[in-house]
Amino acid sequence: MKPVVFSDFDGTISSRDVGYHLFHHFSNGKNDKLIPDWKSGSMSSRECLTREAEMITATVDQLEKYLQQHEIDPTFSSFVTACQRNNIELTILSDGLDFYIERLLAAHGLADLPWLSNHAVINNDKMTIEFPHDNGPCVRCGNCKGQRIREFRQSRSEEAQVIFIGDGYSDACATAEADIIFAKKDLEQYCQKNNIEYVGYRDFSDVTRQLKQNGLFKQTG
Ligand SMILES: [Mg+2]
Ligand SMILES: [Zn+2]
Repeated sequence: MKPVVFSDFDGTISSRDVGYHLFHHFSNGKNDKLIPDWKSGSMSSRECLTREAEMITATVDQLEKYLQQHEIDPTFSSFVTACQRNNIELTILSDGLDFYIERLLAAHGLADLPWLSNHAVINNDKMTIEFPHDNGPCVRCGNCKGQRIREFRQSRSEEAQVIFIGDGYSDACATAEADIIFAKKDLEQYCQKNNIEYVGYRDFSDVTRQLKQNGLFKQTG
């Protein structure tokens, strides 16, 4: 089986959850009242993101300036290099928004990495969200990571060993499809609650170390 890696972006590759903090900042904290319903599953990601976007007023310049305070995991780029050396595909699956993923990756020299996310349309100081990816049977997600992994498997003739790395509830659907799950924070709790086997981690240096131990990263250094 050929190993392939899918990773969440917010709070996994980025040090903090950029989407949440961005809406929190520009809505003066108003988005917080939506989060409990989203976390409990009674509000879908599509509804939550649509309503969060309605709460904010921000121009592209203001959004870009705000993004400058966000960092990505300093150990992520050596993980990317290790995947490349070992000829392992790495794709980012996000239920967040393209405009900040694109900008943060580019700011860290990682503009070539493929990613799939929801789409933010910014007109003057108003944002609307579009959902370009079909979710199949899932009614919970904006961009369903489980559906993306199913589509990936269907598109390949060779069977893949899917490694997934995440940190939150938006990763829940991926846990049903992945073979090896790296989980922290809310995703770790979700795995524990649902008896899903996972590997705990703090950052990408832990993931790199574990994949070396598993023999999936053969070429190192
Ligand atoms: Mg996340
Ligand atoms: Zn889903």
